[in-house]
Amino acid sequence: MAEPQFRTPKGTHDVLPEDHQYMTYIKKAVRHRARQAGYKRIDPPIFENRAIFERGIGEHTDIVEKELFIVSGKQRTEESESDVQFALRPEITAGICRSYIEHGMHLLPQPVELYAIGQCFRYDRPQKGRYRQFHQVDLELIGLKDPSLDAQLIHVCMNIFADLRIADRLTLQLNNIGNAENRRAFLVALKDFFIGKERHLPELDRKRLQTNPLRLLDSKEEDTRILLKSAPTLDQFIDDDSKQYHATLVEYLDELGVKHTANPSLVRGLDYYGQTVFEFWDSSSGAQNAVGGGGRYDGLIELLGGQPTPGVGVAMGVERMIWHMKQAGVTVPNKDHVDVFVAQLGPDAKKMCLTLIAKLREKGVHTIGALGEASLKSQMRLADKFGAKFTLLLGQMEVKEGKIILRDMAAGKQKSIKFENAVEEVLKLLGSENLDTYTLRDHFDED
Ligand code: ATP
Ligand code: MG
Repeated sequence: MAEPQFRTPKGTHDVLPEDHQYMTYIKKAVRHRARQAGYKRIDPPIFENRAIFERGIGEHTDIVEKELFIVSGKQRTEESESDVQFALRPEITAGICRSYIEHGMHLLPQPVELYAIGQCFRYDRPQKGRYRQFHQVDLELIGLKDPSLDAQLIHVCMNIFADLRIADRLTLQLNNIGNAENRRAFLVALKDFFIGKERHLPELDRKRLQTNPLRLLDSKEEDTRILLKSAPTLDQFIDDDSKQYHATLVEYLDELGVKHTANPSLVRGLDYYGQTVFEFWDSSSGAQNAVGGGGRYDGLIELLGGQPTPGVGVAMGVERMIWHMKQAGVTVPNKDHVDVFVAQLGPDAKKMCLTLIAKLREKGVHTIGALGEASLKSQMRLADKFGAKFTLLLGQMEVKEGKIILRDMAAGKQKSIKFENAVEEVLKLLGSENLDTYTLRDHFDED
């Protein structure tokens, strides 16, 4: 076969039907758990004013420094035209907080619980588990601060992982990074410590020491790690309130039976976090390719121009969850099978088949047919390839006699039945529990 002329851009992929089975399954689990816990679904736009991410996430973070997808646009008013720069969202929290402010959600009963599922974009170097377009599940609890909320949020995540049968592959890493004042004091001490030692740091970390020294804590560079062993640690600067907050959170997690690992060097790569931070790590590979992470961001809404408002949230990577499900051998129900293939011969038969197909579908039978003008034999072959359970055959003879042939594909047996009984007969054979019927109640927020 010739090379296709076009392929997906680097770092992106088609979500093919097979993977959609997993995707749908994950979305179902998330919707279900989110709804049980009072979260409502929100979809901020895929692109926003770039300043929202720069201000919220922080200018000296990986995401903003090298991973933002910039989209240029024009802003026109009656008098003028100016350039604006948007960015494709690298995560969903900042957009949700912008929305909270824009729609005056502080007037709603607090906390406001919101969740989103959708695409995110990072212009990162693509590698395993790291794409330029991927999907996140995002949950946010805004407007109230209490360790009980952090614990409940984490518990919802654990329930989702359990539903997906990957919970035992993950460990919850937990830390408290104190308040802004604590971190400022710590960073002064950390910078002091590194005075005269800069040349032992790898170049990237030397730069980070200037721009975002907190990030040194989760540096993967060997030289940095060695130096850090004798450096002051963040927990020496955490105030009593934060310590108390964390102790209570731990108590609540224990109460809920959520296992966790204390990780004093967990800081997360984004500026907006304070107090609680956590990540869900692959138990076998650690920090690399974490499945999700989150924390408290009590300063973010104010940074985006709102009233000071506390919040806590989490983001989970859908592709990484799918990877774990596949690794764990989790199979998901495939509902894309074909129940009935309708084969026909001649224009009259074809026309009659159309209403027959429509009726079967209406009853919840997955039906395809009346596809073309091929011979009955080749239509039968096609029915087989589609994996249909039953085939209904309507030839010229059957049309005249008011009959139709019903063939059980697995058994290789067929019988002639009355055309008018065809639907009823198929329903009986399939069994009512196997019909794909739905009510609006189940489907209104399907996506
Ligand atoms: P990492 O340390 O792996 O770069 P991160 O800290 O940048 O992750 P977060 O901002 O915490 O990631 O995003 C939450 C989740 O989104 C991650 O745990 C991961 O599952 C997923 N994720 C982040 N970036 C990507 C990406 N480029 N491709 C696929 N999934 C991603
Ligand atoms: Mg990253």
